[in-house]
Amino acid sequence: MDILSQEEIRDAFVNCSRSEAAELPMPPGLHEVDWSRREYLGWRDPRTAQRGFIVIPTENGPVGIVLRASDASMRSNAPSMCGWCQDVQLTHDVYLYVAKRAGQAGRNGDTVGTMLCGGFECCENVRRPPSPSIVGFDAEAVVADRIAGLAERARRFAATVVGARI
Ligand SMILES: [Zn+2]
Repeated sequence: MDILSQEEIRDAFVNCSRSEAAELPMPPGLHEVDWSRREYLGWRDPRTAQRGFIVIPTENGPVGIVLRASDASMRSNAPSMCGWCQDVQLTHDVYLYVAKRAGQAGRNGDTVGTMLCGGFECCENVRRPPSPSIVGFDAEAVVADRIAGLAERARRFAATVVGARI
């Protein structure tokens, strides 16, 4: 994804008020982010464990989304698969993250949910080398497919939150 400044990140948020966007904590280590290896940017709220933020690049510019992890999914020890990176190695907690939809729909209580890596590790997960136990396939192509799949699923989620046709 393209480099974003703090200002651009704040401006990108679609499902919170302007004053909430002005207050939200910025991603830690923003100046160290390797944007070329990111299909989306995600971080947790250091003050509220359940709250997370993601910024997804779309054709219409970056879309920022405030997420809330469901209590039940944070307590559950049952293994779940992330719906975006589809990491099958289950090395991280996966939570059900829920987003208020943008605009009137969100104010009416309309939400969208997705199973997502608890600490937003998807971009690292998709770049892990495929298991060497599976022989006879092109590891680079597998990683490229995973990256494309992650970018597409993130983009679709952003479109659903914004309310665009997909
Ligand atoms: Zn993931």
